[in-house]
Amino acid sequence: MNRRHMMQSTVLGTAAVGLSSLWPSSVKPSPWKAPQQPIGLPSIKITDVKSILTAPAGIRLVVVKVSTSEPGLYGLGCATFTQRARTVQTAVDVYLKPFLVGKSPWDIEDIWQSSFFSSYWRNGPVLNNALSGVDMALWDILGKWTGLPVYQLLGGKSRQVVDTYKSAQGQTFEEISESVQQLMDEGYRHIRCEPAAYYPKTGPWEAASYARMLPQFFEKLRARVGEQVELLTDVHELLPPILSIQLAKDLEASRLFFLEDPFSPEDVGYFKHLRQQSSTPIAMGELFNNPNEWLDIISKRLIDFIRVHISQIGGITMARKLAHLCEFFRVRTAWHGPGDTSPVGHAANIHLDLVCNNFGIQEFHGLVQAEEDVFPGSPQAKGGYVYINEKPGFGVDLDEKLAARFPIKDDPSFDLHWGNLRRRDGTIVKP
Ligand code: MG
Repeated sequence: MNRRHMMQSTVLGTAAVGLSSLWPSSVKPSPWKAPQQPIGLPSIKITDVKSILTAPAGIRLVVVKVSTSEPGLYGLGCATFTQRARTVQTAVDVYLKPFLVGKSPWDIEDIWQSSFFSSYWRNGPVLNNALSGVDMALWDILGKWTGLPVYQLLGGKSRQVVDTYKSAQGQTFEEISESVQQLMDEGYRHIRCEPAAYYPKTGPWEAASYARMLPQFFEKLRARVGEQVELLTDVHELLPPILSIQLAKDLEASRLFFLEDPFSPEDVGYFKHLRQQSSTPIAMGELFNNPNEWLDIISKRLIDFIRVHISQIGGITMARKLAHLCEFFRVRTAWHGPGDTSPVGHAANIHLDLVCNNFGIQEFHGLVQAEEDVFPGSPQAKGGYVYINEKPGFGVDLDEKLAARFPIKDDPSFDLHWGNLRRRDGTIVKP
């Protein structure tokens, strides 16, 4: 009997013994028998914690590998903060490693809490990503040891497939609407459109004209592609708050699936004003790090989708708590899943998507071949859904030798525009 079957018999066998005398004679009692001794988990230790930096798609990824005293048993977690990858590397290798070596990998909650407070100052993106990498790796280890996928450890599937969205490509209206049609033909039921002509990555950029043009774009697009597709857009926290409120009102006629990130994290106090004036569904959260940024807007029912980046908030341990909090306020999940997420991070998103009853949608744009080669077992998209494999843990491995052939560069073009986008008069535009 393997470990997995022994654990099942522990749970089910106990119930069978207690209930068998109550069952009608026509109902056969379960053949499961409880083991004589509790199985438990072996007494093993964390022996190493290290960061692995790689860029198989040209985007800097940070992965954490936690090794244990059990030969061959290790876990992987995503710690990708692509804009500051080397600071996360330092947080993992210099600070978390000595704090964690010698501890039990089974104490996931305690390791989360003690690591979080170990720096005294906390809640920032660098330390949260480092902690998330460790946290996911520990869940991966638990899954591998028990022989179970992480979704099973979290409560089991609440759905069989995970609906996903992808961004339409193109510069002009014609190009974008053709791209939407092509994605619909591939099976996508949710498509994000960010008209590049209205959202340049180099300045000068003016919010007011953008806020006037976007509703016209979506009215035209809705008329072109019909009512059978869900349309999404993201304003990247770029507008002054009052313009975002106006935009949400003006987009109502286009019936969006959601309008994403209307305010900067510093401006969450505006959500109550937006909510009083517009019924456009709102997604928010990719820049959130701190529970105080989301508690108020969730508990007051001011948003519809929570859209945090799981490695920015503390990994599986924090994300599942957040998802369960959201469930009570009818807020659905829409975990951030851009290119600066490692395949391990994408898999973590999808394991949660399978479990959480209040799942909304998953962002996933697909992977390039080099990513799939470096990360065997990566999630796969098909027909507008994204799939994980059913292997224990997250089911994603890392070929370290191959990863080393894709070293990170410190000045890739990805996201370099943040901090450089300016208005006509030279003022910085803040996301
Ligand atoms: Mg966004």
